[in-house]
Amino acid sequence: MNKPEITSQLANIVGEEYVSDDLADLIPYERDDQFPFVPPHRPDYVVRPRTIEEIQKILRLANDHKIPVVPFASGINRKGLCIASKGGILLDMRRMTRIEIDEEMMIATIEPGVNFAQLVVALNDYPHLRCLTPDAPATASVLANYMLRGIYATSTRYGIDHLLTMKIILPNGEILDTGSAATPNTIGPYCNIVNGPDLTKLFQANVGTMGVAVEGRIRLYPMPEKIRFLLISFPSFESMLEPAKQYTIQNLVAGVWIWTFTEDALKTIMQLKSATPEWFALGLFLEGTSTEVHDQEDQVLAIAAEAKGEVLKIPPDFENEFVLDHRYMRGDVRGWRKGNLYGCSCYGTFKNLVAYYKAGKKLCEKYGFEGYHFEALPVSPFHGQLTYIDPCILWDGGDPAQVTKIRAFHQELRAALLDIGIYGFFRPFPGVVNSQELGMYGEIWRKIKQLIDPNNIMNPGKPPLD
Ligand SMILES: Cc1cc2nc3c(=O)[nH]c(=O)nc-3n(C[C@H](O)[C@H](O)[C@H](O)COP(=O)(O)OP(=O)(O)OC[C@H]3O[C@@H](n4cnc5c(N)ncnc54)[C@H](O)[C@@H]3O)c2cc1C
Repeated sequence: MNKPEITSQLANIVGEEYVSDDLADLIPYERDDQFPFVPPHRPDYVVRPRTIEEIQKILRLANDHKIPVVPFASGINRKGLCIASKGGILLDMRRMTRIEIDEEMMIATIEPGVNFAQLVVALNDYPHLRCLTPDAPATASVLANYMLRGIYATSTRYGIDHLLTMKIILPNGEILDTGSAATPNTIGPYCNIVNGPDLTKLFQANVGTMGVAVEGRIRLYPMPEKIRFLLISFPSFESMLEPAKQYTIQNLVAGVWIWTFTEDALKTIMQLKSATPEWFALGLFLEGTSTEVHDQEDQVLAIAAEAKGEVLKIPPDFENEFVLDHRYMRGDVRGWRKGNLYGCSCYGTFKNLVAYYKAGKKLCEKYGFEGYHFEALPVSPFHGQLTYIDPCILWDGGDPAQVTKIRAFHQELRAALLDIGIYGFFRPFPGVVNSQELGMYGEIWRKIKQLIDPNNIMNPGKPPLD
């Protein structure tokens, strides 16, 4: 079938209004912030389905004609994950915005087009419930973020796994319900306890390479009565680590951000001034009843004082902004007022934090990048000292010399982090995750991919078959 015939078949499925092969419609999807690592590439068609049946038909058509399909929930990932590296159909699911809240089960069922703003608004009718939100723009897809296991200001207490079960359309158009939906006479598709392995996990941290998730059931949590944000500065990177560890182990905070900023990064990202060239601070989120928060604060301050921590007086507006971000969604994207943001985010161990921090700093100096900042967040459950690590720099994507430099910087930083030892990378994008380096795990991952998607139509060019 030629291109106009495919366009016409797609129009038969979703309606003419929701298909395009027009250049003007395709160009916005062809590149993102990660262009030095995932080169821009234009899809051949943009399709905007509304129903599960439409997605089944699209995948059958694509599978029959071996046309690549790239799922797109909100395209905010910034890691090249929605770039149609081999062309094909860009499946933009932003019309799929159904939300059902089951108050008794403390679960929401959502479609992939539901973003954090929409879910938060829907939850306004249930003031005692909340969803956990990332530091991402409010337009980010909840399902895509949870599938990729996002990182949240509350992850020190609540972890990163808030997705229970999913409805997946496989590349051949078949429907797979993961979790308890498969149990005969099931009481509901709400639970990931099932008779065998938890297949939800098989589709998590896979970047649209196994099928299309058309529905997910996510955990909702009680809304705390009070949230308090504290910023405590310390004399050095090392001096804030023991307090951060104690806050985590003693469960004194919902989140403890370990931050270092250069003067430049502090000004750009936090809109704060520093008297020193490098600034070390813990950003703490305390939550609970008013009494609990009061008690937590006393204990937090006593531990900080022992390490020469100094509580920073922050304007009430600033605290409110942080609390709002944390409780609901990010209203403003700090850090994006200057050029591009690069981060080699990964999971590692708390005890190696100094080594990760220094490795990033040394390379930043070697390559002459300004605005190094390092973020880390202990993650629940803390066994194995699970910690999110993010060495970041601000750079200028408009300068070709910096594009070349950032590629070399990335390779060296990736190697340095692997040398120190990490658990895994945060976002599995090409250039970071290489399944060939993963031994038998990588081999089985590729075999499962081949079993589910023998024609490799789902987001080709991304791990495990990049
Ligand atoms: C400034 C900024 C700050 C951010 N901070 C954070 C943060 O602190 N914590 C955090 O967790 N996130 C953060 N993010 C957002 C985060 O990167 C995205 O939410 C996440 O990567 C998912 O992106 P998305 O929702 O737009 O999904 P997309 O970009 O649309 O998709 C991501 C991947 O999932 C696949 N996919 C999408 N939908 C489906 C589906 N239905 N079925 C199968 N595959 C699918 C896509 O093909 C793609 O490979 C931030 C983003 C920005 C821009």
